[in-house]
Amino acid sequence: METPILDVKRLKTYFYLDDEQVAKAVDDVSFAIRPGESVSIVGESGSGKSMTANSIMGLIGKPGKIIGGSIELNGRDVSGLSEKQMTTIRGKEMAMIFQEPMTALNPVFTVGNQIIEMLRKHKKLNKKLAREQAIHLLEVVGISRPDQIIDEFPHRLSGGMRQRVMIAIAISCQPKLLIADEPTTALDVTIQAQILALLEDMRKKMDMSILMITHDLGVVSDYADRVIVMYGGQVVEQSGTKELLRNTKHPYTQGLLDSMPDLTTNVDRLKTIPGTVPAATEFPEGCRFASRCPSVMGKCISTNPELVEVSAGHHVRCHLYGEGTI
Ligand code: SF4
Repeated sequence: METPILDVKRLKTYFYLDDEQVAKAVDDVSFAIRPGESVSIVGESGSGKSMTANSIMGLIGKPGKIIGGSIELNGRDVSGLSEKQMTTIRGKEMAMIFQEPMTALNPVFTVGNQIIEMLRKHKKLNKKLAREQAIHLLEVVGISRPDQIIDEFPHRLSGGMRQRVMIAIAISCQPKLLIADEPTTALDVTIQAQILALLEDMRKKMDMSILMITHDLGVVSDYADRVIVMYGGQVVEQSGTKELLRNTKHPYTQGLLDSMPDLTTNVDRLKTIPGTVPAATEFPEGCRFASRCPSVMGKCISTNPELVEVSAGHHVRCHLYGEGTI
């Protein structure tokens, strides 16, 4: 079997808070991404999806700590590397784009400076070649007049253009893995579609894997080969996208699907999942979805289910599908 680009095994990222509470933001998460594959992590705010991405990129910050498991990038465990070691990997082997590019772009440097810096750091290009390459990258990501835009400051650009600049920086060193954390949430709907199409185009042209963090199952159904559904810091369902949408197992995934707008039917009000995700400092002993689950049973309250394979490549964490129930 092909070696995965990314292999996350039993990852635990905890935050040790001042009042001696422990927030289990990522709690025993495992998944792998194959070369060229597009995988989405979905879930509500507080489900642990962004913290999983930040753990992979080495961007957790105190008081967070990876306390267990491993993150293998191209077969090398990067979970215990120092910040200095991670800076040689970030941008070169894996890159990340964020929801709001203004938080990632430096407002006091032109967009050209920021792309050129990345090229000079990782590809050791001289200034002239780096500038030429930067203009080419702006053109590749669909920015018109790239020879002029290269000298603009980020605040002079629209949200969609800033996200294109972020993508240009992210792909500048041809990383094999791109992590996109809600990359279109802050954009207008039409621009969202353009940015998603651009990412898909880049993935195919560069044979790059994409890990997309999103709360939008519409994005997932259009772009992901596989889906990982997270809840309460854990994976609750994982499978190929078509299988997950046709043969949904976990009550939480079903709730997410039911709360999606359906343009073919006329409804007054969308369904919602009652309640909220429990705080990462207060996970119950049993199933973390129990307080919101329409199918809750006695053993759900006392025992957190294991993630089990219910059919080839389809994993579910729910007592409805435990041993002897299929
Ligand atoms: Fe619902 Fe129980 Fe399954 Fe949790 S384990 S999702 S509470 S049925």
